[in-house]
Amino acid sequence: ADDKPVKNNYRIASDSLFAPFEFQNSEKKYVGIDVDLLNAIAKTEKFNISMDFVGFQTAVDQTQAGHADGMIAGMSITDERKNVFDFSDPYFTANATIAVKKGTKNITSYKSLKDKTVGVKNGTASQEFITKNKDKYGYKVKVFDAADTMYASLGTGSIDAFMDDEPVVKYAILQGQKFETPIKPEKIGEYGFAVKKGTNPELISMFNAGLAKIKANGKYDKIVAKYMGNEA
Ligand code: GLN
Repeated sequence: ADDKPVKNNYRIASDSLFAPFEFQNSEKKYVGIDVDLLNAIAKTEKFNISMDFVGFQTAVDQTQAGHADGMIAGMSITDERKNVFDFSDPYFTANATIAVKKGTKNITSYKSLKDKTVGVKNGTASQEFITKNKDKYGYKVKVFDAADTMYASLGTGSIDAFMDDEPVVKYAILQGQKFETPIKPEKIGEYGFAVKKGTNPELISMFNAGLAKIKANGKYDKIVAKYMGNEA
């Protein structure tokens, strides 16, 4: 079967900052739900991984180029991506949402974003949604490589809003960011582990087998609760 490691080590690419899924803790060590889940699955299924936190679009590029064997990055399973990636079973459900500076009064709908500037992270499902609806609502789009600069830009007012995954925005608010989410979130698909289409099939099989086991034995819930507490 496809369920045994073929390589001694699998190089996995990830985002550089997507808390609580991957982020650096106070000791500069990368932690998060994706990190713990993949490590637990690798341990259960007895394969070795190394992870590189290169940023979302770079992780996509490296996986497509074969420089990474796979990626886990809070990556939504979308029909478009299924053309170039094979995905695992879904491991988390998340919508995307608009965030504005707390206390903003004049942004209450997509329509009210007219002539405003909306930030998105390069390569994300939010970027796709925001770009697709740009002409309809008449806003400008600003693309960022990472969340920290995008969040800071909202603070300084160089963007009026941004779109990012709801659990990530909620986590940022819990961590003290002065954001609020005035518009109903959009469905963008569930998160999956991904490989370049047609490659490393054993990685997908092992991920799915390990995910089923850690869901059954309570490890999955423990990991999610560790980072999200009652929010999950
Ligand atoms: N879930 C979103 C996507 O797949 C965002 C992922 C991310 O920013 N790491 O595009």
